[in-house]
Amino acid sequence: MLRVDRLVKRYNKVAAVDNISFEVVAGETVALLGPSGCGKTTTLRMIAGFANPDAGIVSIADQDVTPLRPYERNIGILFQDYALFPHMTVRDNVAFGPQHRGVPKAEIPERVDKYLDLVGMAAMADRYPTTLSGGQQQRVALARAMATEPGIILLDEPLSALDAKLRERLRIELKQILKTVNAAAIVVTHDQDEALSLADRVLIMSEGRILQNASPSEVYHKPINRFVAEFVGRSNWLGGHVETSGGVSTLMGKGGISFVLPPHIPKEPDLNFFLRPESILISKAPPEHNNDNRVYCEGTVLSKMFLGQDTEVIAKIGDDLELTLLTRKSLDGDFSVGERVFLSFDKANLGYVND
Ligand code: ATP
Repeated sequence: MLRVDRLVKRYNKVAAVDNISFEVVAGETVALLGPSGCGKTTTLRMIAGFANPDAGIVSIADQDVTPLRPYERNIGILFQDYALFPHMTVRDNVAFGPQHRGVPKAEIPERVDKYLDLVGMAAMADRYPTTLSGGQQQRVALARAMATEPGIILLDEPLSALDAKLRERLRIELKQILKTVNAAAIVVTHDQDEALSLADRVLIMSEGRILQNASPSEVYHKPINRFVAEFVGRSNWLGGHVETSGGVSTLMGKGGISFVLPPHIPKEPDLNFFLRPESILISKAPPEHNNDNRVYCEGTVLSKMFLGQDTEVIAKIGDDLELTLLTRKSLDGDFSVGERVFLSFDKANLGYVND
């Protein structure tokens, strides 16, 4: 549906977007995720036609649209600040796009009702934007972006103006709505939770380039490098080096942790290993049965922080390894700072990167 081919945008000779290519098919939601200044918004602006690329092509349904103006591209856009017209009712805001894109007048009321209904705002059609809450305005803006029935929808930080609870709820709704309209959608966000939960595919950007283009699960569990691993979640780096003898590779990690590497790890000398906090289990008592697929170690609780649903614990293993882990209210009860604890993880959850 949408193809971006070797797109480049320079500002003062510095490439804000540096030769990026990707595709989005109908019904698919792709998130552009990356730190501030990595080129997400510039990419979106070039796709929408608000910025001219220095090189590269944007095509929609196999047609090169690079020379076309924004309104000629059949793209729906949801801006960060919604930008609803304050002097128009909700209904008129949503009708605006179809009216200016030549939809027959008789069809417009039905079209407007359909999209207001989809976002759960039909009952507020006659209200003015200033009388709506942030979440309600966001829904109207979404209905307005969809009302022209575009093949492509661009969403720039669509939920960033909302409070945490509403953001989480609308995230689920937004995902369902995007599936219903079957458009190719691109969401720009710097919130990794939002990207991983909303998108079918995530493009991790850094300094104008795409580092990884993969499913949310893949960028989280199989990041292509350390930058991606750290950007999409917390990571505990195990350090040390790998010793291979007789075809068996063993990690000699920090904190005296050493174990035979599982088969999913490639036999390469320079890998770095990490564990996500949620894959480490903590207990007061030593394990009753050892299991070859798990690694066990003893440590001391260095600190703990209550986070509501989880408690984050940092435990020290040996002299030089600190592991951060999350624990729901454990069967063992609470852990105190200074307490001796037992930690374990499944080798299948061991992540690795090459640099
Ligand atoms: P954020 O998450 O902070 O919105 P972003 O990933 O969307 O960041 P962009 O807004 O695309 O990043 O900016 C990419 C780079 O291009 C930045 O270094 C920015 O300073 C630069 N840039 C963007 N627009 C312009 C402009 N109109 N003139 C000069 N430089 C620009």
